[in-house]
Amino acid sequence: MKINAARLQQHFEAMSLIGKIGETGTCRPAHSKEEKKAFELAATWMKQAGMSTKVDNFGNLIGRLEGSNNQLPVLMMGSHLDSQPYGGRFDGVAGVLCAIEVLMTMKENGIVPQRPIEIISFADEEGWRFNKGLFGSRGMLGKLEEGELNRKDKDGITREQALKEFGCDITKFKESEYAKDSIYCFLELHIEQGPVLDIAQKPIGIVTGISGPLWLTVKLKGQAGHTGSVPMPLRKDALLGAAEIIVALNQIATQEKENPTVGTVATINVFPASRNIIAEEVEFTIDLRDIDMERRHLYERQLMEKIEEITKKNGLTYSIKEDTNSEPRYCADWIKSIIKNNCEKLRLDAPELMSGPFHDALALSYACDYGMIFVRCKDGISHNPLEYSSMEDIALGTEVLFGTVIDILNN
Ligand SMILES: [Zn+2]
Repeated sequence: MKINAARLQQHFEAMSLIGKIGETGTCRPAHSKEEKKAFELAATWMKQAGMSTKVDNFGNLIGRLEGSNNQLPVLMMGSHLDSQPYGGRFDGVAGVLCAIEVLMTMKENGIVPQRPIEIISFADEEGWRFNKGLFGSRGMLGKLEEGELNRKDKDGITREQALKEFGCDITKFKESEYAKDSIYCFLELHIEQGPVLDIAQKPIGIVTGISGPLWLTVKLKGQAGHTGSVPMPLRKDALLGAAEIIVALNQIATQEKENPTVGTVATINVFPASRNIIAEEVEFTIDLRDIDMERRHLYERQLMEKIEEITKKNGLTYSIKEDTNSEPRYCADWIKSIIKNNCEKLRLDAPELMSGPFHDALALSYACDYGMIFVRCKDGISHNPLEYSSMEDIALGTEVLFGTVIDILNN
């Protein structure tokens, strides 16, 4: 192996201390002081690899290695250093640290690229703090949506405030945007976050594409009343309606057992949340994903019919806000075949697989060709402190990434 697996392991260990929760968990919210510390640490390694570093106005950490011809579009790599509130040590981190290891290895081998190379830790990939993800990667491509800066976290802090506190100048977004055709291609290494590779006993997978999520926020309104006195037939119980919709979504997503469709409700807010007041208002999020857009649209229509029917039955009114609606995006064949060649050089039989979770690569797919390398993840557990990938597998993935970068540079 050309890469330095021991150094890579040290970097993972050092990074895991920032925002550490429990034995193996991580909590590094977007635009937080923990994320800033993570940026500072990653930036010291980027500098050792010969890169200049900066944090842009979207809160992205950007490391840049100049090429011998800086007129050429940049080869970009990266992922994210923010984590879920109850997350692990590998999600996102792998894509940043393994890319830095690739650059360190290049430097040690005296390889000077023709085109510039950038490594980015994208701001707020995870999306839980403001209920909308891929902020940094969409931002730098000029793809933010109306009202995004007014979104609030659970403490009432707006995205705008959080960015300002982080040191970003929101009046200068334009300066941090990338011009069309300025990115040659994008590479992201990520842990699989699912069980396919673990079950197949393969350390590395080649991603074929990313399935698109539909994120909705549903608000139901009923009527508050005393739980001891309002007779059952007269109630307008918003929480009861929500419960029925949650079950209906589950039935819709599982109606054909062999499909990879997934539907989830994982957050719920109840007002006024008193044990002896019937719930007047309930807000919950819906996450529906599929690699087949036609089927996803069909299920979406079924869900809307169910929401209509259930709210009517329970005497509720409702509103639905669409937070995110993405289509599946496929990896470039030429990058997949370069990744495959590099797996074969290491005698790795790397299966191809689709990604259910979205990644920063989804945003980048609208600006350039992209490729992704998946690393096996124990029992498919992720977004959980138990998330685990072995350093052996991560080192293999990094070696594949290194070979892929070299081949792309020589392409
Ligand atoms: Zn991730």
